[in-house]
Amino acid sequence: MTDFSFPAKKIGDYTVTAISDGYLTASLDLLLNIDRHQASELQQRGGLDDRSPMHINGYLVRGAGRTALVDAGAGGVKHWGGRLKAGLRLAGVRPSDVDTILLTHAHPDHIGGLLDGSGETVFPHAELLVHHRELAFWQDDGNLARANERARGNFQIARKALDAYGGALRTIKEGEVLPGVSAIPLPGHTSGHTGYLINSEDQSALFWGDTVHFPTIQVPRPDASVTLDNDPVRAAETRSKVFEMASSEDLLVAGAHLNERGFARVERSSSGYSITDED
Ligand SMILES: [Zn+2]
Ligand SMILES: [Zn+2]
Repeated sequence: MTDFSFPAKKIGDYTVTAISDGYLTASLDLLLNIDRHQASELQQRGGLDDRSPMHINGYLVRGAGRTALVDAGAGGVKHWGGRLKAGLRLAGVRPSDVDTILLTHAHPDHIGGLLDGSGETVFPHAELLVHHRELAFWQDDGNLARANERARGNFQIARKALDAYGGALRTIKEGEVLPGVSAIPLPGHTSGHTGYLINSEDQSALFWGDTVHFPTIQVPRPDASVTLDNDPVRAAETRSKVFEMASSEDLLVAGAHLNERGFARVERSSSGYSITDED
């Protein structure tokens, strides 16, 4: 079978395919530092409304002899998503074919898909790359003790997945992690939140993880963080830096909570930043 139905881009030696995991329910109430009415207006301008669910993407990265994934979707955890595995199958990839998983961070909608319903690893041959600060955060019992009830649930989910892949974990810092693929720390959303930049034959793409949750709102308003951000001020600073980089270098961007088209570009004008889907 071919993956003609999934958005895909050729980046030099690599082919990157956006695989939808489905949706999670989210409310504009998650937004900080922005007037609700303005948020609503920006959503509408982007063709969405207040009740639009949040889309979840995972990305399949094939090339240079590798079959990699950037994040694994929610996998049905909390009744979110769960379609990624079927999507991979349609793209001709079995879970056992995946040799590398590049984790942007360990929130449930990015790691839920690492385990099946009985807690077994879905990707038995994959090495799981995670930033050392991300791993340290979730393993810290002090952080767990300080967490509220929702965040405590997130600790359980993260620890279960990270433990299950214990022997296959590779902690990373910044710099090259695969041929032509570099990790870029993007702290704020979580302490070890990490982007990945592919550079191959003069083409490039940036996986920016959870730099935005509401693209139509947070691109024009980078100062608007979300309650899901560990450090909302730092997340906003990082967001501005990423937009500056993406717009000045005309980078193709890929993000877990971009829409079904999976790829976009950020442009800068005198009035600020805007985002355009990439067909
Ligand atoms: Zn997240
Ligand atoms: Zn997310």
